[in-house]
Amino acid sequence: MEVIEIKPSGYCLGVIKAISTAIKVRKENPNASIYVFGLLVHNDDVTKELNAYSIETIDITNIDIIKRLEEFSSNDIVIFTAHGHPQIYEDILSRKNVRFIDTTCSFVKKNIELIEMNKMNRQIIYIGKNNHPETVAALSTSDRVLLYEKGKPFDYSMIKCKDPLVINQTTLSFLELLDIHKEIKEKINGAIIEDEICNATRVRQEKLTHIDDDVDLIIIIGSNKSSNTKKLFEIALQNRKVKDIYMVNSLEEVKKIDLKGHKKVVLASGTSTSINVIKEIRKYLEETK
Ligand code: SF4
Repeated sequence: MEVIEIKPSGYCLGVIKAISTAIKVRKENPNASIYVFGLLVHNDDVTKELNAYSIETIDITNIDIIKRLEEFSSNDIVIFTAHGHPQIYEDILSRKNVRFIDTTCSFVKKNIELIEMNKMNRQIIYIGKNNHPETVAALSTSDRVLLYEKGKPFDYSMIKCKDPLVINQTTLSFLELLDIHKEIKEKINGAIIEDEICNATRVRQEKLTHIDDDVDLIIIIGSNKSSNTKKLFEIALQNRKVKDIYMVNSLEEVKKIDLKGHKKVVLASGTSTSINVIKEIRKYLEETK
């Protein structure tokens, strides 16, 4: 089978930096208790890899976050994830003399900086997924940051200024963002639109919308916990010509797909997908007649 792999593929620079920082911290502190506060990236393989270095990942989805932060001691090292976090988390650890490392990606940091620069002068409409760490970090900066969640009606009566800043989570789909921006502009003519999808996400999405006409199968590789992987899948589903579109996280899942009759497949991967998984899936497909 002919395989077209959308590039870039595998980990983005933000993810590579987060993982390598965590491993470096372990090597420099062989006896410390090291914790990743939340999923460093949304990929179970990464969590397992970190476990092998005795770095424990704390799932913060359904816990009392403040209480857990208060439980760390000065013998611990806490690593914050690439997605960002509220400032109060750092404040608590500083008060308790707990060492922490911030691996927030530069794209996410830039987003927060834009919010900080604007929040005194205007309200901010933040387009994102509720409870995603990046959204939590953005909303924590000020009560003037208001969440616009896709698929849910936004209460425009909350906007009291003529020129709110419109900003977004870095891993949204550029297609859905276009529609939302259009709607906001129709409601608030003076809205200042900042498209903050990160390049690692955008390039993959754009390439996925321009695939050859003779492609008969699309496979998106990545975890269903990864926002940008799910957005790639949503974009792929909008392709009217290709009927067979799958999202998988392992070679085993690909083996369950009926590949009979398929001649040309497009592979795309999320920014937290391991290159090893991509390589083995690619090899398997190339060897499939
Ligand atoms: S997906 Fe984008 S924003 Fe997220 S870590 Fe990677 S480069 Fe940074």
